[in-house]
Amino acid sequence: GEWIMRLEGIRGGYLTGSFWEDFLETVSGVNLDIFENEILGIAGESGCGKTTLLRIMYGHVVKPLVLRSGRVLLRGENGVYDLASVDLEERRKLWWRVVGYIPQNSMNMLNPVERVRDHFLEILKHHAGMGEREATSVATRYVEEVGLSRDVLNAYPHQLSGGMRQRVVIALSLMLKPKLVLADEPTTGLDVVVQRGVLQTLTEKVRSYGSSLVIVSHDIGMHTMVTDRIAIMYAGKVVEVGKTVEVIREPLHPYTRALIESLPKIGDKRLRKGLPGMPPDFKNPPSGCRFHPRCPLAMDICKDKEPPLVSLGSGRLVACWLYGEGGVGVG
Ligand code: SF4
Repeated sequence: GEWIMRLEGIRGGYLTGSFWEDFLETVSGVNLDIFENEILGIAGESGCGKTTLLRIMYGHVVKPLVLRSGRVLLRGENGVYDLASVDLEERRKLWWRVVGYIPQNSMNMLNPVERVRDHFLEILKHHAGMGEREATSVATRYVEEVGLSRDVLNAYPHQLSGGMRQRVVIALSLMLKPKLVLADEPTTGLDVVVQRGVLQTLTEKVRSYGSSLVIVSHDIGMHTMVTDRIAIMYAGKVVEVGKTVEVIREPLHPYTRALIESLPKIGDKRLRKGLPGMPPDFKNPPSGCRFHPRCPLAMDICKDKEPPLVSLGSGRLVACWLYGEGGVGVG
């Protein structure tokens, strides 16, 4: 299929003081395509830059977050936009209708002093030009579509459970059928059973609307359940990309292997191997391959030269000197 979003050379991070040099780069040169009709997972330990990347993908770059370079190309209704350079007014027109966002905590999207109904009406009026009556009937349909009762529309956000609020946020984000939905750890803080239900609703809706979904999560088990493709991030870089089943079955990058080996297996009572060593300090990232201080297979070249993300065919990409140019490969 065609890409719906294309990331080119994204570098971004956070200002830590009032000078341009007071900057912590948490995304360091990411190139990634998101295709039509796919669910793409972005995985990695906390602090690997995945949330920063997602916010940049939404085009919601406000200080202290800054984008230092790169393009965020989005295929909209009237052509391709670079979300990194179009003005705020233009981005506002794309939000909700072309690209939607589901934050980690639903209260970041919901206004505590407004009823649920008002959230729906505001978006439907401003972004779809609907009148009160039409908007009310659409709102009712959408809360029911995500498995809630219409009474929820009369409630204030704090009167709902975390799971219900997350369903409200899903309905809000999806109701204008954006081509791309970006979700940041959408089920964090919910209990396991509620998580399953919320994820199932989210993915079913996305599939039935023919939208694409990007889910950021540290939870590899979740990615295995719901994503078609996965991108693994380490220290601000994408280190491996591929079909989720293939990456889980045969992880190529040593970091991906470590992540997958650290997963608990059903019926296995042994303590799983954690990943030794500390995640790198963004202020002072390791030279060459950023994973080299923790990598059991590190070679001389790894300290000196950064491995490029290379294609191994059929959509599999990996950034590691064991593969591709000059790589020795591992069995
Ligand atoms: Fe390990 Fe070298 Fe590959 Fe980095 S490039 S993951 S250090 S083998």
